[in-house]
Amino acid sequence: MSAAFFVLAISICIAVIFATAFAVVAVTSRSAVSARWLSAAYGMGALYLGLEFMLPLQPHMAALSVAVFTTFLLAETLVVIGLACHYALSPPWRLLAVVVGLSVLVNVLSLDMERASLLRTMLYQLPYAVMQVIAVLVVLRAPATRRGALDLLLLSLYTIGAMQFLAKPLLAAVIGAGATERDYITTSYAAISQASGAVLLVANGLLLLLVLVRASMHELKTHSETDALSGLLNRRGFENRAAVMLERAGRQGVPMTLLVADLDHFKAINDDHGHAVGDSVIAAFAAVLRQTAPPGAAMGRIGGEEFAILVPAEPLDGVTGFVEAVRQGIAAHSVRVLAPGKALTVSLGVAELQRDEQLLDVMRRADMALYHAKKSGRDRASVAEIDIVTTDPLPDRWRDLLEV
Ligand code: GH3
Ligand code: MG
Ligand code: MG
Repeated sequence: MSAAFFVLAISICIAVIFATAFAVVAVTSRSAVSARWLSAAYGMGALYLGLEFMLPLQPHMAALSVAVFTTFLLAETLVVIGLACHYALSPPWRLLAVVVGLSVLVNVLSLDMERASLLRTMLYQLPYAVMQVIAVLVVLRAPATRRGALDLLLLSLYTIGAMQFLAKPLLAAVIGAGATERDYITTSYAAISQASGAVLLVANGLLLLLVLVRASMHELKTHSETDALSGLLNRRGFENRAAVMLERAGRQGVPMTLLVADLDHFKAINDDHGHAVGDSVIAAFAAVLRQTAPPGAAMGRIGGEEFAILVPAEPLDGVTGFVEAVRQGIAAHSVRVLAPGKALTVSLGVAELQRDEQLLDVMRRADMALYHAKKSGRDRASVAEIDIVTTDPLPDRWRDLLEV
């Protein structure tokens, strides 16, 4: 048995393993669409390799030869579709159909050409290279926010893949690819071709699996940091996002202001109108925050009816208008939810980040300012003075304020 046969047999196993792995991802992941296409791609790849295995054994060479050519091209096509789905792009269906259709037609028409001719091997390999280029274009069309190191590796892999398919006809011309289909598998060209194919098969499968795992991890992280009712960040998500913003602000010397907002007499809304109305008010307030927040703000629901907003601006310049818009926004909404004449109000505590201050410290000061706003009659915002920065335990400071 020739070396190429062994590589072929191993490649079939590899293709089946990846087809199974993608199928498992498709069953267990919520973003399963691309995994399904990739599973089909590797299934098709296994079929192609199986047909290639049979090629020297079958008498109906022409039909089998076209089937071998087509199944590999379809495997590549399915990878392109899976990639497009992964990047939330619409697959280039028309382009793919044209490339596959034309390529199969040219393949059938070139069956009578001399097997060893450079033109025939070029016509055979060119569609594969074109499909790799289409894969490159799909990765390049992916939104910049979704492109990282893995995607750059995919770009490199498909570029190498395209070059490999373009180099094959030249290699075949130099070392010979066998006089007949039957001879092909015994040649050194077949061994080199199958070995390089197997390496690309494994590299492509592993990279695509990693890309899917990365998507799952991102999905899980987003899920664990999002508050279901408001759609804003939850406390953990807000603290993580704020930590990144504060670190960047410290480095770049950008001012930061933290606001803590707490709906007034919210318990009464629950008591008078029911928990469901209370929930709808929380969701409505979150919508008001989303509509009015300055660009670059991080917003989270950090407690029952308590929200935190970190704004990259100074309190007076960047926050005053926002506070007013929030107050008006929620008052207007309450007209639709509550009895006529009853307006929903909110109190806010505002604290500007001081040099070298940690999130916990500025939160503590904003909380004190909020408490002050509540004590001063609600439906207002209080700004924390710099001198109430403290490292004392929180309950002591609250007691101090209560005595004021
Ligand atoms: P204040 O003006 O001093 O803020 O008074 P308040 O009634 O708003 O404050 P308090 O902290 O006493 O009440 C908050 C209420 O929020 C109590 C709790 O039942 C309610 N709550 C907490 N989480 C949720 C929720 O997810 N949905 C609803 N509907 N209510 C919630
Ligand atoms: Mg409240
Ligand atoms: Mg509260």
